[in-house]
Amino acid sequence: MSAKIIKNLDEIPTEIIETDLLIIGGGNAGCFAAYEAKTQNPSLRVTIMEKAHISRSGALAAGMDAINTYLREDKGETPEKLVKWSRAQMGGGPIREDLALSNAEILNETVDLLEEWGLPIVRDEGGQYKLRGRYDISIQGEQLKPIMAEKAMEAGAQVLNRVAATNLLIEGERCIGAMGFGVRDGKFYVIRAKATIVSTGGACGIYKSPVTDYSGSHHQTWMCPFNVGTGYAMGIRAGAEMTSLEQRWVAVRTKDFCGPVDTIAVGYGCLMINGKGERIMEERYAHVGGEKAPRFFRLNAPMNEWLEGRGPTYVDTRVLDPEEAKDLRTDLLNERPTFVLFLASLGIDITKEPVEIYGSDPYIVGGHTGSGYWVGIDRMTTVPGLFAAGEAAGGSPNKFVGGCGSEGRLATRGALGYLKKVSLPPADSAQVEQEKKRVFAPFLRGPEFDGINPVEMEERLQRLMDEYAGGVHQFYRMNEERLVQALKHIRKLQDQAELLYAGELHDLMSAHEVIDRLNVAEVLVHHLLFRKETRWPGWQTRMDYPEVDPKLDCFVESVRDPKTGEVKVFTRPYEQLIPGDRTKG
Ligand SMILES: Cc1cc2nc3c(=O)[nH]c(=O)nc-3n(C[C@H](O)[C@H](O)[C@H](O)COP(=O)(O)OP(=O)(O)OC[C@H]3O[C@@H](n4cnc5c(N)ncnc54)[C@H](O)[C@@H]3O)c2cc1C
Repeated sequence: MSAKIIKNLDEIPTEIIETDLLIIGGGNAGCFAAYEAKTQNPSLRVTIMEKAHISRSGALAAGMDAINTYLREDKGETPEKLVKWSRAQMGGGPIREDLALSNAEILNETVDLLEEWGLPIVRDEGGQYKLRGRYDISIQGEQLKPIMAEKAMEAGAQVLNRVAATNLLIEGERCIGAMGFGVRDGKFYVIRAKATIVSTGGACGIYKSPVTDYSGSHHQTWMCPFNVGTGYAMGIRAGAEMTSLEQRWVAVRTKDFCGPVDTIAVGYGCLMINGKGERIMEERYAHVGGEKAPRFFRLNAPMNEWLEGRGPTYVDTRVLDPEEAKDLRTDLLNERPTFVLFLASLGIDITKEPVEIYGSDPYIVGGHTGSGYWVGIDRMTTVPGLFAAGEAAGGSPNKFVGGCGSEGRLATRGALGYLKKVSLPPADSAQVEQEKKRVFAPFLRGPEFDGINPVEMEERLQRLMDEYAGGVHQFYRMNEERLVQALKHIRKLQDQAELLYAGELHDLMSAHEVIDRLNVAEVLVHHLLFRKETRWPGWQTRMDYPEVDPKLDCFVESVRDPKTGEVKVFTRPYEQLIPGDRTKG
């Protein structure tokens, strides 16, 4: 559909759907949420609103070669031990141990379901799932997403593919569904629901990717480039409480492509080296104070080496023989097939030359760190009727594939308990009309409008976040004045959002993606400003506050006032449930 055809709002059709449970985002957590709902109550009306197509959407779209968390009970692993490990990975917290424990308790069941559905999981000689690390199991997961999607559809969920959510439907304080638009059919959708689960993944593309420079591509990132933080943004606009957004996640990835390094380093024993040939992990980053270093410390290693004049950095693939190099490429086909092409394009024999590595751009991902909605044990957010799961839900890091799927199931259980007690009020037509106007405004302005195209604004945002709010080109470092400057620029861009125009539906989606990213960026910078300490070097490095401040051993929270737009930042205490030294896992 193009702006040449549609000139006024009345010409845009509105479709109203009524359902019991709305799931926004049919990724990993979303598919598990739908499966759980229809299994528990087959007569329940369950609707999935998915921006892409659920068969190949989100983090799992291209496949996976490992499930990072599984408890091998024969090795003495327990849910409590996993929580302790996760806490130590975060340098001793703060994490929501209650949430992490409840995820861990059903983790194996969730992973076993995947195998039952047809996912090939590699087994060892003893017939157990083959371990790659302490909790990490190997899978042949190229088909992981289609397998999940098939189960959600088979269970009878109504799936609205290529419908992007744009805002929550709010009645008083309560969420009663969501609104959005068809990115292919151009319709405006109003989905009224007794309960809603948001499972839209994390936020990618807030910062400039180091690969964008190299390839000019906007989609060369590690996280799914189409998960732009809309789930967070909708909550932020509705006044939901967010937690720990300042816990940014950055990763070590291959340079100029953002390819997987864990598979090469952990799976194939190719150690990280610097330009001088030194094994950097062993020599500098593996241990802190005699203990194994937390994850964020290790992930910062290559960028530190660059900063200190010992770059470039590599994974030393020269330890591989040709047969192992072939096996490695086969494994990579399960997770990031295009990486195999990239390796070929380097024109090197990786058994003779090491492969360069670098840091990624920072992401907000509540399945990796603790960023996202503040939720109760039932996964209800602070907006009644709205539940969150997977990367969208905060407080409990290191969930990854199994934990996000498990949380989808838990959010459904919470939502089912809630929806029994409520009825569905009619949607407020003024709110619906206002959102329709907001959503289609860039489209109605049309391609002839003398304004800003979404890509220009996206590039401006990513660059300012990179420069002022600790992106990879600044070695993740930031200080007060730069952060204040970042906020100033973000506000300017927010004011300019009314100049965005879209010539076609794809551009319209990009316009809303950048508006949503701006909302997330603004609140993220407030969190970064509030944490006047350095608790997770690399993920959150304050040059002006280089030490840990014991007074900030707590959660940093925020709520944006929907009326005034003012962002209030405050703290919540950390509650340790599992005894023991928090830095030891
Ligand atoms: C490249 C990569 C490799 C990884 N490797 C591993 C690994 O080896 N092992 C492991 O355990 N974990 C791994 N992870 C992490 C793991 O995959 C994720 O933590 C987890 O799958 C996230 O699940 P989710 O449901 O929260 O998000 P997703 O599965 O990403 O689902 C989010 C869904 O929301 C949809 N959506 C987004 N915005 C909207 C909108 N506005 N309206 C409607 N729908 C929307 C998306 O299209 C998507 O379908 C990896 C992640 C990535 C990106």
